[in-house]
Amino acid sequence: MSEHLEASIARLRDRLERAGRDPASVTVIAVTKGFDVDVVKDALSVGLFDLGENYAQDMRAKVDALGPAERAQARWHFIGRLQTNKVRLIAADVALWQSVDRSSVAREIAKHAPGAAVLVQVNTSDEPQKGGCAPADVSRLVGECRELGLSVSGLMCVGPADAPSAARTAFRLLGSLADDLGLRERSMGMSDDLEIALGEGSTMVRVGTALFGSRPAPPGARR
Ligand SMILES: *Cc1c(COP(=O)(O)O)cnc(C)c1O
Repeated sequence: MSEHLEASIARLRDRLERAGRDPASVTVIAVTKGFDVDVVKDALSVGLFDLGENYAQDMRAKVDALGPAERAQARWHFIGRLQTNKVRLIAADVALWQSVDRSSVAREIAKHAPGAAVLVQVNTSDEPQKGGCAPADVSRLVGECRELGLSVSGLMCVGPADAPSAARTAFRLLGSLADDLGLRERSMGMSDDLEIALGEGSTMVRVGTALFGSRPAPPGARR
């Protein structure tokens, strides 16, 4: 597995470089959703310490299945739809809450993880089924997070799956919102659209299948 993973990492670094970016300027979040804890252990063993999860219970189970040294290495990024009643379950273990998209979630995080680092997720492609606040609400939500004592370092979005040109438009919007607010981090780009996101100034790509292969089961389908 590790050999396979190392080859995938080499390919990914290649893609970052070909997109004109120094791999050191881009944080790769290894998205382990849908995979079991052995994949998390493999990722840590090859130096992928930034890990992304979408479901609080799954993340809890994986954290609990790690040994103490692995737990200390892992930096967990929560990237899924956040339910307020699940925040507490993982509050002590999340390094960066990437999917804050409404006040109720921000309040719950501030309550259980005071001063936590967050990104505000924006629905930059105006897709009703997608998480994220409306672009017009970003400034207000960033302000609310700060009033709650949270540390807002940037914005996050999930690109539209259809045309590359739509992805570019969505990523460009996230970049200009982040510029307007003076926010450094732009978490955008996944396995299929990371070149486009990097071209638009992404600082964090969230990569699952390009590192680990196709997911065994659709995340969430198991419950
Ligand atoms: C699943 C997921 C990813 C990773 O997607 P891949 O296509 O496997 O790279 C990134 N970000 C979010 C929010 C996701 O849900």
